[in-house]
Amino acid sequence: LKQCPNVHSYFHRRLLLWMPKRMWAFDLKCPVCVKSISLNSKGVYRKVRNVIDLKGRYYLAAEYHQCPTCQGTFISYDDRILNQLPFSLRVRFPILLTGKFASDIGVVNLMRSRTLGNSSTSLWNDVTEMHSDEWMRRAVAYLSDCERHKISRKRLGIPDVTYATLPLFHNPPGCKWFLATYIRDVWSRLPVLKSRIRYGTLLKIDSTKKITLKLQV
Ligand SMILES: [Zn+2]
Repeated sequence: LKQCPNVHSYFHRRLLLWMPKRMWAFDLKCPVCVKSISLNSKGVYRKVRNVIDLKGRYYLAAEYHQCPTCQGTFISYDDRILNQLPFSLRVRFPILLTGKFASDIGVVNLMRSRTLGNSSTSLWNDVTEMHSDEWMRRAVAYLSDCERHKISRKRLGIPDVTYATLPLFHNPPGCKWFLATYIRDVWSRLPVLKSRIRYGTLLKIDSTKKITLKLQV
């Protein structure tokens, strides 16, 4: 008889392992030391990050590096590490890091295409809708498999089993997070200007007046 459906296999989350040094044997340098010192690997960083994408969440795991000279430690998604990579490798890191949650580039692109004109609230609504849609899809698949399992047991006269309950649905982080991610994205795309400009100038360039207003509140 077929095994009882395992709820975790329906609701599992992807894991993205980001290890540029190991994946492409890339010689990362210590961003602190003046001399060019190659970083050593210290293995996988113990903390994983939660990444919000269009369908739900996934995990980001990273490599930990140490400088043999200054003993400084650096995580592989640190900007100072990412910026050492050539463009062709840098673009393979599909995540923007903001606070507690990180954002998949899919969500960032959705923000860019809207230039935040429709406000972060409606973006939040849309992303929440997509997340709950995906959750429902998985829930339907799991529950219908449980139902089939139950019927086949009944036919064979085998007693019922108890099925694991559905995991809770988690809303994506709030509107403020979307706004912060958007600002971080605009900011990161203006590396040349970063050191020179203030918010006012930035916003003239990007003409997103709404951000100015929200930053001033
Ligand atoms: Zn160093």
